[in-house]
Amino acid sequence: MSARFNKLTPVEVPREAGAARGGLDGITQTVAETTTCPNCFGSGMEVVAGKGARRYHCRTQGSRAELIDAARVPRRYAVCSLSNYRPADDNGSQLRAFKYAYRLVRDYPAVERGLLFTGPCGVGKTHLSAAILHGLLGKGIGCLFYDFGSLLREIQSSYNPESPLSEVQVLAPVYGAEVLVLDELGASKPTDWVRDMMMQIVNARYNEKRLTVFTTNYLDDRRCAGDETLEDRIGVRLRSRLYEMCRTVVVEGEDYRRRLDV
Ligand code: ADP
Repeated sequence: MSARFNKLTPVEVPREAGAARGGLDGITQTVAETTTCPNCFGSGMEVVAGKGARRYHCRTQGSRAELIDAARVPRRYAVCSLSNYRPADDNGSQLRAFKYAYRLVRDYPAVERGLLFTGPCGVGKTHLSAAILHGLLGKGIGCLFYDFGSLLREIQSSYNPESPLSEVQVLAPVYGAEVLVLDELGASKPTDWVRDMMMQIVNARYNEKRLTVFTTNYLDDRRCAGDETLEDRIGVRLRSRLYEMCRTVVVEGEDYRRRLDV
């Protein structure tokens, strides 16, 4: 970690979202500068005089390209970074969410708890989670991204006798990833099997004290939660584990995707 990076403390992030733009740009530029390999500049390629370009294996970061492939971040979120996250004007919750994401990337591995981003659709929860993974991948950390529903479907497919993968093989990387994003917790209909599986996965990571970042559309506050709270959806025991594993970060705002519908 460079001395310059250390100098940036969270209190330097401006408090007003409107005034934050310049401040965030400064911070995110610093994140990018400190996590980019000085030899391949994050491209995973190097130019050899007289011969052209070839794949470059960063000595300090391992193979960035391989780490990125292994992380399985969906294409839609492939370019999501802290630098291109823009909190909506006057939206303190989005600025706060950004700060927690930024600090996690900056401080890792000296980080005890992951994050649980909770809020309605389209407020940037998955964007920030993918941005965290990209920031950590830039530091050479092995990461994995899974949408919870897709993971459950992969596990179900593994029960098919024709499946090339067993349940254990599907779950091994999920249990073992140094940092895992589990997107859309609680979105799948909570049958007994789904609840058992969620508990098994979260418990495995809880027991090994592995860092996990979750997103969910379900809120804790019954007054705002609509029909079901997160606890209703995933069960008391699992919600309790999550309090210990993660800081809960409520993200509010308009659906960002609506801005695209012009
Ligand atoms: P959520 O996970 O909260 O449902 P997403 O993170 O999937 O929302 O955001 C939906 C789309 O809007 C994504 O393409 C994301 O990159 C973009 N987006 C959301 N919030 C922001 C933001 N504050 N700055 C930049 N892009 C954003």
